[in-house]
Amino acid sequence: MTSLSAGYQHTQKLTFPKSALSHLRANRSARANVASSPGLDIGQVRFPGDGLRGASVRVFAQPVLKPTDAIIKVAASCICGSDLWPFRGLQPVDAPMHMGHEYCGVVVEVGSAVKTVRPGQFVVGSFCLSDDTCPHCRFGFQSSCEQREFMSGAQAPYARVPLADGTLVATGTMPDDDLIPSLLAVSDVLGTGWYAADAAREQPGPTVAVGGDGAVGLMGVLAAKQMGAERIIAMSRHKARQDLALEYGATDIVSERGEAGVTRIKELTKGVGADSVLECVGTNESMHQAINCARPGGSVGFVGVPHGVELDGEFLFFAQKSLLGGPAPVRRFLPHLMELVLSRKINPGKVFDLTLPLEGVAEGYRAMDERRAIKTLLRL
Ligand SMILES: [Zn+2]
Repeated sequence: MTSLSAGYQHTQKLTFPKSALSHLRANRSARANVASSPGLDIGQVRFPGDGLRGASVRVFAQPVLKPTDAIIKVAASCICGSDLWPFRGLQPVDAPMHMGHEYCGVVVEVGSAVKTVRPGQFVVGSFCLSDDTCPHCRFGFQSSCEQREFMSGAQAPYARVPLADGTLVATGTMPDDDLIPSLLAVSDVLGTGWYAADAAREQPGPTVAVGGDGAVGLMGVLAAKQMGAERIIAMSRHKARQDLALEYGATDIVSERGEAGVTRIKELTKGVGADSVLECVGTNESMHQAINCARPGGSVGFVGVPHGVELDGEFLFFAQKSLLGGPAPVRRFLPHLMELVLSRKINPGKVFDLTLPLEGVAEGYRAMDERRAIKTLLRL
């Protein structure tokens, strides 16, 4: 298998013949033929079976498999921090994986049961796939949908979106090209930062502390600002990320971490603690720091995927803080966030500090792995 330094191996050129798209359209009424249609190969980034950093880009067909599926022509995708786990070999990978769960693009094909989106529409979807009809979806927790699946295979020219009716939200018209990065951000990173603020009961007035200066943390700052927080304390050690946090609405920067970070937050809040704390990291230290930064009766929204977090019952009992987190129910927020982007009230797309064509996906992973980039955008 190719080594990392050799980059991704293109087993087939990742350009899509124009004839394939027209062929796909021609086959809309004969979906059974799509899988075997010549030229209908759809590219996916796959990791090799050994789960190491070497990887290859392969091209293969991705047809409608279920009546509730849609196929989209991807306008942009990106690389998530969680994609780095298998990339680094820290997550066991024993079979090729379809990578990428953040996406927006144009519908080119729908299954027979799909009612709410149609070919030609520009859509944004969540990384969590949901029916939007079950009791959990109707309660606003689409990321716990009874039919929940997780999106994969979005780092590709075309992607299959299961549960399309419940998952995808269409724009009224084709969005301007410069809005694509921000619309893409809605599908995960902004939606997740927004959920952190929502879960931490962010509301006009109070003080919010944001732990984590990765893309999600920066989006948490943006969300807190939009929700009316008067004081937003961003915890960051990196100049470029501090600058972006300030641009997104942070009023204070704290570079200390752990106990020292808690002490600094207490100093900034007259010994009280923050009303809301957004935990966007997922380590044991960051989770404890977040809980300790919140005032008694305050709330912590935690969206960093936990790695080795252990909470003691007695610690929680005496902390007296509200905790809510988990995979973000982005679908709940999609219409509102898309409207904020389309009306140019927010610019979450600035969080992408490296833009590459899909063919440059290997460099995108490397740049994030080596912390040269906060988040890599892949344009198609
Ligand atoms: Zn559901």
